[in-house]
Amino acid sequence: MKKTVFSAMRPTGKLHLGHLVGALHNWTELQKSHQCIFSIVDWHALMGEYEQSAAIRGNVLDMALDWLACGIDPKQSVIFVQSDVPEHLELQMIFSCITPLGWLERNPTYKEQLREIEKRDLQTYGFLGYPVLQAADILLYKANAVPIGEDQLPHLELTREISRRFNHIFKTEFFEDCEAILTQTPRLLGLDGRKMSKSYNNAINLSDTPEEIQKKVKTMFTDPKRLRLKDPGHPEDCNVYSYYKVFAPQQCEAVYNWCTAAEKGCTDCKKIFADHLIDHLSEISAKRESLSKDRDTIKDILQEGRKKAQAIARQTIEEVKEVIFA
Ligand code: SF4
Repeated sequence: MKKTVFSAMRPTGKLHLGHLVGALHNWTELQKSHQCIFSIVDWHALMGEYEQSAAIRGNVLDMALDWLACGIDPKQSVIFVQSDVPEHLELQMIFSCITPLGWLERNPTYKEQLREIEKRDLQTYGFLGYPVLQAADILLYKANAVPIGEDQLPHLELTREISRRFNHIFKTEFFEDCEAILTQTPRLLGLDGRKMSKSYNNAINLSDTPEEIQKKVKTMFTDPKRLRLKDPGHPEDCNVYSYYKVFAPQQCEAVYNWCTAAEKGCTDCKKIFADHLIDHLSEISAKRESLSKDRDTIKDILQEGRKKAQAIARQTIEEVKEVIFA
């Protein structure tokens, strides 16, 4: 029996290189050895961005397109849209009855988002409770594991606490602890050296054309101490070099040498990198291009995924009700 892995993304905008190296590369490997269930969590998108709800539907299809282009295989994995499976909200409601408010109010990500996101009003009942929906997303499929980064460990711990509390209150061992698959992913900063984020508009998107990639790479911040062509550079302090490490590691030695010896300028170095990146992404771009002409197939894949996900979800809800009302 393959172990079940659940993971999800919020459809809040275009996917970028950070998503590719931070999640999708890992997912394509995991699907070879696990029963993977990947959800496009549109209810979570609504919780955070309810004022831009009109964009969510388009983002859902774009996200499915990117996933498929990056190698998520609907024959190996279940791919579906969260709102197509209403059992997510049913389990969320049940969990919300037993989750103490203090657990949610102490959630570090919730507090951080309230502090940092000024443009949106996130002081809502729904947003406070998003970890309850996350717990429902995972436990609905009795997932054994979720692939996450260290920063997401508190969320998983909250899921575990909710499942243990369910077991305690209803005197059952129905839910088992879900494990983290800690993923070591390369840290990729945005073009300007800040955290990569759509709100900073500092990312290279998977849907960018070669021309857009060249243009964006040109704007990348480099070693701040290298002011003139003749100044030797410090590759380890350069954002472009960190991208080379991820997308063209075979070039790193040459880049290190021409940079530290001031043999090439940053403009040339970036131009060469852009070509490597375009080459690296060419397979994804070609697949994306061909899939984008056939949106009906993507909708069919999501419908097939919904059927598979809902069969499991329905069963879990029936069992949960048995436990609660026994
Ligand atoms: Fe960075 Fe390349 Fe310029 Fe060196 S030459 S500072 S690695 S962009």
